[in-house]
Parts: sequence; C-alpha cells; structure tokens
Amino acid sequence: MIGVFGGTFDPIHFGHLRPALELLQGLPLREIRFVPLRTAVHRTQPVATAAQRLAMVRAAVAGQPGFVADDRELRRTGDSYSYDTLASLRAELGPRLPICLLTGRDAFAELPTWYRWRDIADLAHWVVMRRPGADAATDPELRHWMAPRLATDPAVLPRTPGGRVLFRDVTQLDISATAIRARIALGLSPGFLLPEGVLAFIEREGLYRP
Ligand code: ATP
Repeated sequence: MIGVFGGTFDPIHFGHLRPALELLQGLPLREIRFVPLRTAVHRTQPVATAAQRLAMVRAAVAGQPGFVADDRELRRTGDSYSYDTLASLRAELGPRLPICLLTGRDAFAELPTWYRWRDIADLAHWVVMRRPGADAATDPELRHWMAPRLATDPAVLPRTPGGRVLFRDVTQLDISATAIRARIALGLSPGFLLPEGVLAFIEREGLYRP
C-alpha cells in the first residue's frame, strides 16, 4: 500500500511532514509520495515556480526512508486534477495496489468541488488528517457519501485497492505555508517551521520576499 500526499507545497513544512511520518509509521504504507501540483484548480496560484516547489519537496524528503518526491503533475500541462494523477498512478502501479490519498481535513471538506471526486474514491482510499482550525466534514452530501465507506480499523485498507475513508489523529501543528510566506515577507525567519534544507533553498533563491 502506498500513500499519495498532494499539495501546493509553497513551501513544504513540518505541518505536512510530521503528520505524514506518523501515517507512514502508523499505517501499513511502504512509501508516501509527495506530489506538488502544477496549476492550482481550487485556489490562487503558487508564488514559487513548479521547479522551485519540487526542489523544496526533494530537499524535505531527502534522507527520510519511505518519503518520495513525485513530479508527475509537473510533467503534465494544464490544470492539475487529482483524478488524472491517480489515473496515471493506477496505470503505472496496476489496478490492485491499494493507494491512500492523504489530505488534511480542510482539503477533504472541499471534496465535493473536486473534478470527478466520486471516481477518485474508487481509485484510492482517503486518509484524512486532523488539522488545527479545520472541522469535520459538515457538507450533507459528503457525509451521506462517506457513511458506508468509513473505516475505523486501518487493517481494512490493504484489503481493497480503494473506496474507504479513514480519519486519523496526528500531532496538531498549526503551521501553514501562507503564514510562512507572510513571515518571510516581513523579514522574519520561518526557522523551526520547516526543514533546514528547505529554508536554505528559500534563502538562496530569495523566495517570498516582498
Ligand atoms: P497554504 O497556506 O498556501 O494554503 P498549506 O500550508 O495549507 O498551504 P498545502 O500545500 O496547500 O499547504 O496543503 C497540502 C495538503 O496538506 C492539504 O491536504 C492540507 O490539508 C494538508 N496540510 C497542510 N498543512 C497542514 C497541517 N499543518 N496539518 C495537517 N495537514 C496539513
């Protein structure tokens, strides 16, 4: 079973990495792929270029066994839809390997706005991490859809390629890329919110300065 963690990663930070490590250790995952999106569909476009965000993801995962940077969205043109990403992973890994899509609760709550979201759920499981400030799904359509798919025991996930939803408690780190960019714009160090290697890259490239 593998995990897929998609995001803007503008920049990647400990709020992504620590929960991901806890999922790697707590679920039967052999690896987690961090997939930076190319063009945002649901939000304003990233500040750093795709190449810069990929470089930061690579710096962040270096040396952590089981963490992998995956540049498949950056190799595609047009909008980055999770459906296309999963379809391309399925084409590469085959129809039977269980895949878990890892998202924070804020992202999961937006699920009904995603392109072909019900199809995505057939292609993979959803593993939803608690995030400070983000409530449980309240959208009635989402709750209704989720009810028969909810899993409480992680052991059920490897039994099917996809289709289940699992909520996980992870260490709550109130860190966001937005707040990191804002600190840098104010000339303040974002130290201890993200890995040293990522910080060094940001400083070298002069990223997020006004
Ligand atoms: P921004 O502030 O620019 O919106 P972000 O910090 O939310 O960025 P993203 O790259 O947009 O980071 O998030 C990618 C995924 O990581 C989403 O599923 C999001 O819910 C999750 N995530 C981000 N930060 C945290 C956090 N501190 N705790 C748990 N999940 C998080």
